[in-house]
Amino acid sequence: MHELSVCQGMLSQVEAIALQHQAKRVAAIILQIGPLSGIEPALLQQAFTLARAGSIAEQATLVIESLPVRVLCRQCGQESEVTPNRLLCKHCGDYHTQLVSGDEMLLASVELDVDEASAQSSSPQQAVSSGGNYV
Ligand SMILES: [Zn+2]
Repeated sequence: MHELSVCQGMLSQVEAIALQHQAKRVAAIILQIGPLSGIEPALLQQAFTLARAGSIAEQATLVIESLPVRVLCRQCGQESEVTPNRLLCKHCGDYHTQLVSGDEMLLASVELDVDEASAQSSSPQQAVSSGGNYV
């Protein structure tokens, strides 16, 4: 299952971050996924419940946010936010566009429990994968 390997990769990043901050537990993981990443959020949630077992994120909540699809127009040079199945420039209508974002998965934020009393949040903004690598 494609999502499971994505999940395991993401969890090893999360574990590295938790170690860095000497956290005992991960409370929440916030991922941002572009619609063109090839990752199915529902399957990723499923995979996460398998992959987190025995890890530092065993009790973590996985929050999945959707990223917009953005293209850069080669004709007029402007960026537009578009729908995944219609990558046309919104300014001039040209189809010579280049994908700026929408095919990536980002680890947006990790909430750590450092001790019982305080929680700490870390925002690495690291790319876990860009869709193409796994397809
Ligand atoms: Zn344009």
